[in-house]
Order: sequence, then C-alpha cells, then structure tokens
Amino acid sequence: MSDVSLYRKFRPQTFANLVGQDHVRVTLTNALKKGHLAHAYLFTGPRGTGKTSTARLFAKAINCLNLGENAEPCEACDICQDITIGRLIDVIEIDAASNTGVDDMRELIDKLHFAPTRARNKVYIVDEVHMLSKGAFNAFLKTLEEPPANVYFILATTESHKVPETIISRCQRFDFKRIDVKTVMTRLSYIAQMEGIAAEDEALEMIARHVDGGLRDAIGLFEQLVVNNKLTKEHVRVILGVAGSSAIEHFYGFLSARDANGALKFIQELYEEGVDFVQFTKEILEKMRAEMLHAVESKKMDEAGALIGMIEIFQKAFDQLKNAMIVQLPLEVAIVKYLNPGAVQTAPPVPTVLIPVAVKVTPTPIAPPETPAQLQPEKVMGGKTITVEDLKKEWPRITERIKTPKLRISLRDVRNFSVVGHIITLAFTAKFHQDSIMESASRSELEKIIEETLGVSVKVDSTLERVELHSPIEHHEETASAPPDFADDVAAMFGGEVVD
Ligand SMILES: [Zn+2]
Repeated sequence: MSDVSLYRKFRPQTFANLVGQDHVRVTLTNALKKGHLAHAYLFTGPRGTGKTSTARLFAKAINCLNLGENAEPCEACDICQDITIGRLIDVIEIDAASNTGVDDMRELIDKLHFAPTRARNKVYIVDEVHMLSKGAFNAFLKTLEEPPANVYFILATTESHKVPETIISRCQRFDFKRIDVKTVMTRLSYIAQMEGIAAEDEALEMIARHVDGGLRDAIGLFEQLVVNNKLTKEHVRVILGVAGSSAIEHFYGFLSARDANGALKFIQELYEEGVDFVQFTKEILEKMRAEMLHAVESKKMDEAGALIGMIEIFQKAFDQLKNAMIVQLPLEVAIVKYLNPGAVQTAPPVPTVLIPVAVKVTPTPIAPPETPAQLQPEKVMGGKTITVEDLKKEWPRITERIKTPKLRISLRDVRNFSVVGHIITLAFTAKFHQDSIMESASRSELEKIIEETLGVSVKVDSTLERVELHSPIEHHEETASAPPDFADDVAAMFGGEVVD
C-alpha cells in the first residue's frame, strides 16, 4: 500500500462518490445548479460520516473553473487540483478545538474582508465548531449576520446541541447520518478491489458493524487490519474481539431452539476465543430488535411480545456487563433466565436476607369464584384444595408440559400467584403476555395442564401488577451492598410471595 492513508486516498472528490448521505448530496447539488447558495452551512452528525469531505467538495464546486453537469467539480482545473491536495489559500480549514478564543476569531474576521487570492470565493471550514468560546461565538455572530459577498462558511460539528441557537439559526443545516452497514461494506469492498486486497465479506461486515456508522473509522480499521494484502475474518475477529454475524446467528439459533446447554457452551467458546462480550451482546440485541420489528411488520404481535421479554432479559445482561467480575456471567444468567425460568424458581431456598421485601405487589383484585356448575365437580378430587405453595412447587413441571411455545414464553412473565378456591390468578408484568395467556385456547391449554399436574380442576384468571423496588434493606449488609438491578433480578427470580 502507498504512504497516503486509504481514507485520504479515497476521500470523495465528486458528489457522486459521497457515500451514504444522499439527502445532503441532492440538496447541495440542486442548490449549486440553481445558484441558490447560503453563506453559512452547519454540517452536523457523528464523526467520520463525511462532513469535512463534503465541505471541501462544496468549496471545489463553487470555485471550479469548469463545473460539470450535476454540479460536479471538473477535477482537472488548477483550482480543483489545489483544493484536492489542500493547497488552495482561499479554502481555509480551522480546527475550532485548537482555536477557541475570541482573539483567534477576531483575527479570522479581520482577514475576511480581503478579496480571495486565486479563487472566486473564499471558503472557511470550521471543524468542531462547538468548541469555540462564548466570546468567539459572539464575535462570529456579527459576521454571520452580514457575510461578505464572496465568503462562505461551513461549520462542522459532532455536537450541534453545544452550538448557540443564534448561530444555528443563521446557517442552513445538514444532518449527516450514520452510514449503514451495507453501505460501509460496499465502500470497503470497492477500496479493497481498487487496492488489490483480498478481503473476506465477513471480515468487512465485522468492521462495518464495529464502527457504528463512521466511514472514516471503517477505512482506518480496514487499513490497519490488512495483512499481506489480505483481510481475513479470523484476523479481524481476534483483533476486534468481534464474534461475527455467523456467531450471532448461531447463538440466536440456540435460543430459538431452547437449547440452554448449547447456548452456555457456545458462550464459553466465545470467551475462550477472546470475544468482546459487550460488543457481542450489543449485536445480539440488534438481532433481537430486527426480529421484533420484523414480527411487528408481519403483524405477528404475539411473537413481537415474546421477543420483548427476550430483549428485556438481554438488555439487563448488557447493563451488567460493564461491572461483571466474570465477564460471561451476565449472559449465562440471561440464557438460564430466558430458557429455563422453572429451574430458577426451584433453586435452593434463598438466604432470608435476599427474600424480596424488594418486591411490592399492588393488591390484586381477584375475580369472584365462578359458579360450581361451570366446573366439573367430580374432578375436584374429594374437595382437595390447592395452595400457592403447591402451585409454586409444581410450576416448573407445569410450564415444561406446555406445548405451545408462545404460551410458554408468556408464562415466564408470571411474577406471582394467588389462589382462591379453584381460581388461580396469575400476576403478569406485561400486558401482552397477560393477553396472550388469556386467549381462550391458551387459557384452556394451561388449565388442562394444571389440572393434570395438580389433580384439581381450576380456572385461570390474571392480573397485571406493577413491580416496585424498595431501597435495599439497610440492616443487612449483603443486601445493602447489592446494586438495585441485582435485587430486582433476585426478586424476579425467586419472587412470587407477596411480602409487604
Ligand atoms: Zn475544476
């Protein structure tokens, strides 16, 4: 590879090559064609999305001696060539991060009124404009109110909220977007081809996912990761700690197949490979989100509801990862929690300190018992009654026997039981899970299985509860030191008893 960085080498020199910012390109080129230009522009958006490149393109387009169709700079005239190599004195780039003061700004303003040296127009490109001091902004403001005729300003920033409204209102604003994974991949693939680099698609995808929409970072990483004119997924995986999309699919497959062992083993393998679990979990969440949106699009609301339960569990794992002493543990807990809530509930008794005083349950209105005629009295087994304890003990067996997957998923949301006579009231935290269970077919399936398991004919009712957290109990050190999240988890896992 040559000495010039790939990013500079492949910086777009024409609007046609400006990647991923179609709305900016169309609006700017239309304005250029019509000659309807503003004197001040604000380019805002995440780093590495093309703001400065576009600013230079604009500077070229308003100065090019042979502007082509579609407002494309000719790339051949002296002006174009000098701007490309950054040598045109009339295009002035200022890094506001290192020229923040009012004096810097005054100096700049003093020079504004000198006519351009070679080009028709002077263009000031102010990078990271939000870094200017208040005084500098004030000095600048007057200039923006009455800019000299042949002077243009392009203010670029990653943090537009730090730019005073008085400045913003005097600029035409363009919001640069994060560039999507496919577009970044396409560009990287083009660069690879031009440079004669054999790049594996999956490797390009890992890079594109890693950079969060910044093309400059993507190209920089690409350049660093190429070894002997090759870019392999193994190398990218090792260096970035990225698992890769096939790993994501693989893991998601274990969850879908409800294979807890497979999923746990897979996490261990990823750990041994040195995968970055924060990144991995983020990608898993992205996958779940995509599945959820797809379910909503296809009007499969039950499926979407079930996915929300899954997302909530893994989101919690993600939040806990940053402080995890054993990095794979939050994911392992999430897997067990998601795939086998029954096992969690039958875990050995929790030390009393952890018994969730943490969970406060709003009193649940319980439906009046139905008339005995609606039941099958002979099945009440000699007046046998069931208690909350019976139900809790058998709950894992009951959920295991449920055949309908979405029903099983929704049952995981059950946080509490109450039993009055033969009516079992299940307390849900999510309305869609409650609705899903209370559909008549689901409810019949559940009632039948409870009946088979407990030998008692029952009716299932439901309620929606709000789970509130109290602050941890002061007089128990263990609990007091546990973060609220953890208390919440434990409460959710072992809760069920109404403690108030
Ligand atoms: Zn030109």
